[in-house]
Order: sequence, then structure tokens, then C-alpha cells
Amino acid sequence: MAEKKLPFSKKQLDAIIDQYPTPFHIYDEKAIRKNAREFKKAFAWSRGFKEFFAVKACPNPYIMKILQAEGFGADCSSLSELVLAQKTGIVGEEIMFSSNDTPAKEFIKARKLKAIINLDDITHIDYLEKHAGLPDLICFRYNPGPLKKGNFIIGHPEEAKYGFTREQLFEGYRICRDRGVKRFGIHTMVASNELDPNYFVETAEILFNLIVEISHALGIRFEFANLSGGMGIPYRPGQERIDLDAMSRGIKKKYEQIIAANGLAPLKIYTECGRYITGPYGYLVSKVLHIKDTYKKFAGLDACMADLMRPALYGAYHHITVAGKEKLSHDTMYDVTGSLCENNDKFAIDRMLPKLTHGDTLVIHDTGAHGYAMGFNYNGKLRSAELLVREDGSVVQIRRAETVADYLRTLDFKGLSEF
Ligand SMILES: *Cc1c(COP(=O)(O)O)cnc(C)c1O
Repeated sequence: MAEKKLPFSKKQLDAIIDQYPTPFHIYDEKAIRKNAREFKKAFAWSRGFKEFFAVKACPNPYIMKILQAEGFGADCSSLSELVLAQKTGIVGEEIMFSSNDTPAKEFIKARKLKAIINLDDITHIDYLEKHAGLPDLICFRYNPGPLKKGNFIIGHPEEAKYGFTREQLFEGYRICRDRGVKRFGIHTMVASNELDPNYFVETAEILFNLIVEISHALGIRFEFANLSGGMGIPYRPGQERIDLDAMSRGIKKKYEQIIAANGLAPLKIYTECGRYITGPYGYLVSKVLHIKDTYKKFAGLDACMADLMRPALYGAYHHITVAGKEKLSHDTMYDVTGSLCENNDKFAIDRMLPKLTHGDTLVIHDTGAHGYAMGFNYNGKLRSAELLVREDGSVVQIRRAETVADYLRTLDFKGLSEF
């Protein structure tokens, strides 16, 4: 069962807060590296296995560099993410460019960086050729439609905007083969935050079977199957982590039965997980500004949904620890809120916590993925800093907090005086 413990004591936290005012996200390097090694080890049977970290989950070059050192690449889906990868020193086929509704300039940049290009639609073949030329290696994103059930966040595949239909895949690979593309990959992403390992085994099976059919029909050879991201993490204390070894064993069995048995080995297995890689190893640290007692009890924090949008956006659960009060009885019910003028700016609703007072430090768990990254400036809210606890216990700031000057930077006040 997932434990919801903090990797730092109240005393350590107080010392950090003395130097860096709340709110901030703080990441645990030791835990990120340990998890990355376990992830790689689970797929050690698969030669050429590679995880392309989904940059959108935690777009910080320090985190990306740690993961690069652990052997991971980067999964990008925008121009800015491509530039982040480049500036981190991740280039060439260490980048998977899995975009959709893609502007020409992004394809041009991806081609310049020699990234692996994963196309979202059959019409993008002509579009890519026209604007940036066709590469030697191409990957298509498959949408299985009604053939596969989706899950809560991503919805039904046939309603999703992503990917090629089955027929379009055959047509697309044929077009690319006839235009001289030599190397091929296939990708699908049909789940988000999924904890059932069988889901990913089934996804692999679908891709492997398609590879057999398409290779035979078109006489092309596939280099990789990209199982994408979507592996879940236990946000709630009662949930279990994904059994990675069981998942990997299941995929290996399908690989042997389908890929190896049809003479299509070696085929590399790629993933592009974000949440699983950094999610549990980030924390949003915030202080209680106000306690309010009306029809309900409210604990108002100095953070708001600009720092963590998942509870407001998906009704997502994020565990909360009150630093130094872990052992006290959780006997008081609160809505834990932010300061946005938006009634769903709540980190938790009806949460049992120890009795809170002004100045208490609340640590919100599992913010290492899709936390800071989803931040925004609505209501003039400024994005927080990001800190990293190094393996030796020292703390570094890996992104400063935004200032009002940052917020105003795109406005021209000189023009206003003559307006
Ligand atoms: C969001 C996304 C991912 C990562 O998803 P996680 O749930 O963080 O693992 C991977 N690939 C693509 C194309 C995505 O859009």
C-alpha cells in the first residue's frame, strides 16, 4: 500500500522555508533516480528499451537532466518543449516528438533536431513533407477507436482527437514506404493514470498484432513500438503502485508470442511516461493564511490552483500532510482552498485534518507531474518556485518564482500613454 510520508522532517522543512518563501514545489532527486532505475530494470529483458520522459509532466531542465543521466530521452509535443530538450542537451533520436494539430514551425524544429517524429494524422504526412521534408524514420499514433475501452481522464478512444484509424495506418505506412521512408515505429496512448498493469499488456498486444499485419501487408520492418505514457500512481493512501514487474512480464510474453514467433524480432519497446516518473516525488509546500468558519470550515492557503490544478480540473485527490502534526488526531473537517476568485479553487473538500492554525505548513503530495506544469496566470496569480532536494540533502532552487514584472512583461505600457 502506498505510504504517504514526507522525505523531510518539520525541522528541515522550516529551514528550507526560511530560505525560500512558500508556496513552492519541491522534488526529491534520490527518489526520482531510484524509481527511474527500477523502471529501467523492469524492462531489462527488452534490448534497446527506452523511456522518453513526457516533458509536459515536469518541464524543468534540471529534472530532465537527471533523467537523461539515468538513460531517458524526452517526449516533446511543442516548440518550447523541443527547445527545452535541446537546451538540456537532449537531441536527435533521444527526442520523441508526439504532437497533435501541429504547426509547421514545430515540425521544422523537430526535423532540425533530428527528433523521432510521431505523426498524429494521415494528412500530416503531406504537411510534414511540404514544410520540413520526410525523415528516414517515421512513427504513427494509432487510435483503436471502439476496439479499446478508454479510462476516465482520456475518455473513449473514438471520441478522442488523437491518432490514425486502423485503415489509415495501413494507408499511411504505404504512402511513406513509397516515398522512401525506410524506418518505422508505431505508437498508441489510450489511458491516463491507469493503475491496472493488464491495461498496458493489452495495449502492447494490440500494437504487436498490428505490427505483424502491417509488416506482412506492406513488406516494411518496424523498429519500435511506443507504448506511450498513462501509467498511474497511487494518489490515495489505500491504492497500490502498478506492479511493474508483472506488467513487464506480461508484455514480454506477448512479445515472444507475437513478435518473436512471427520473425519480427528485434523490436524495441519505448515508453513515454510522465506521471509515473516524477509524480510521487514532488510536493507542493504551502502555509495556512486564514482559517474561516462559516457554513463549513475553510483553511485558506498561500498557494492556489495556479500551482496545482488537478483537484479543480479532475476532482483529483491529493494527499495532504500537516508538517509536524502527523501524529495528531485528524478530527476536524476542512475545505482546503486557494485564493483565486473561482469557487472550485480547492485542494481538498471535506478533508479530515488535525486542527489547523494560521501559519501551519501543509504539504500536498504527488505534485511532481502535471503540478507546476499546468500552472497559469488567471487572476494575476504568479507561478511558484521549484526546488530540488539533492541526493546529499542540500536544496537548490531550480526555478525562481514569478514576479509581477514577469506577469507584465508582454504588455507595452509606453504605448498606453499615447493610446
Ligand atoms: C501526456 C502524454 C504523455 C504522458 O502521460 P503521463 O500520464 O504523464 O504518463 C505521454 N505521451 C503523450 C503523447 C502525452 O500526451
